[in-house]
Amino acid sequence: MSARNILVINCGSSSIKFALVNEAQATFPLQGLAERVGTPEAVLHWQLGDTKQSLNIPGADHRAALERLLPVAQEAAGGKLDGIGHRVVHGGEHFTGSTLIDEAVLKAIRDSAQLAPLHNPANLVGIDAAMALFPGLPQVSVFDTAFHQTMPEHAFRYAVPEFLYKEHSVRRYGFHGTSHNFVSKRAAEMTELPVDDSCWLTAHLGNGCSTCAIVNGESRDTSMGLTPLEGLVMGTRSGDVDPNLHSYLNRTLGWSLEQIDRMLNHDSGLKGLSGLSNDLRTLQEARVAGHAGATLAFEVFCYRLAKSLASMACALPKLDGLIFTGGIGENSMAVRTRTLEHLKLFNFKLDEEANARCTRGVGGEIQAAGSPRVLVVPTNEERQIALDTLALLDA
Ligand code: AMP
Repeated sequence: MSARNILVINCGSSSIKFALVNEAQATFPLQGLAERVGTPEAVLHWQLGDTKQSLNIPGADHRAALERLLPVAQEAAGGKLDGIGHRVVHGGEHFTGSTLIDEAVLKAIRDSAQLAPLHNPANLVGIDAAMALFPGLPQVSVFDTAFHQTMPEHAFRYAVPEFLYKEHSVRRYGFHGTSHNFVSKRAAEMTELPVDDSCWLTAHLGNGCSTCAIVNGESRDTSMGLTPLEGLVMGTRSGDVDPNLHSYLNRTLGWSLEQIDRMLNHDSGLKGLSGLSNDLRTLQEARVAGHAGATLAFEVFCYRLAKSLASMACALPKLDGLIFTGGIGENSMAVRTRTLEHLKLFNFKLDEEANARCTRGVGGEIQAAGSPRVLVVPTNEERQIALDTLALLDA
């Protein structure tokens, strides 16, 4: 059997990210992005091998954009596409793993939409369009939440009245599961430890950030909760705040729930603390130049991350390594250094040269002698989605 090709689709409200994954190739034959979908400025960018191209697709909706990218994907796959893997943000309690899409699955994704009102409807638009365009192809949904369905109840329940969980699904779900899963498996490979007998702390640090405790290949706790707002400081998201902040701001400033949601999701985090940017690269430069807001944002980010990792350690019987991933985790030597300075009780020590070497896609172990393992592992959510899709095709 020749190496199979999976088209991976990640449909947002106004964008579609896509990649063609060939099971025998380390790099993607094709990857790209449709932006500003549904507007007069809609545009499709893709990279086929080393060649980058763009095409204006004014007014194209998700389906029209997918129609345009189909021939490009078919050509890149040599006319042989074997399946499509869709990223879906929220699977609620319905899904403990990836699944082949049928009517029942579509209904369950729709039923979970209330839990992710910005994401699931956009994911569904992509699935509907792809199913209409490729009716004969197996399609698989891969959920950000599914990997965390192995959390024990004492980790996933909030201390609120039971009927809110039983009747209204109020519990912790966790996100970034595809990434935490991928990097922990990859770390086991890199260290030659068996997946089913290894324990990891993972820190996925991108625009969204979360930590996870992984025991023998299963998530036991994670920092995000009912929604992707809980936990760490992120690019524009606050992470944890006192739950009474809502009523306080309502009482004192007269803010509505929508205003408070917007502030916590879009105007907080690194952006809110620094007053400058949500982009860590900008903040690192400003910090070196002495910008007080950038310095504070960096310090709060690292301290809160360390605190979260220390609390995640409660879920582990032993620690085989701490893994950094995501745009910040893979690239920021300064964040890795500062975070571990707050975790002295764990005896973490970094090898400065190894830490400096790990950037721009270079991974590896970065601890000094005598320290527990610390690894930088570039994440690859597209590859994990393709691997899940292939596993379901084999089944
Ligand atoms: P992601 O969402 O995984 O693409 O990560 C985005 C975040 O990674 C942004 O905050 C970027 O500033 C950060 N990032 C990307 N490259 C670097 C770098 N070379 N150094 C520091 N931060 C980086």
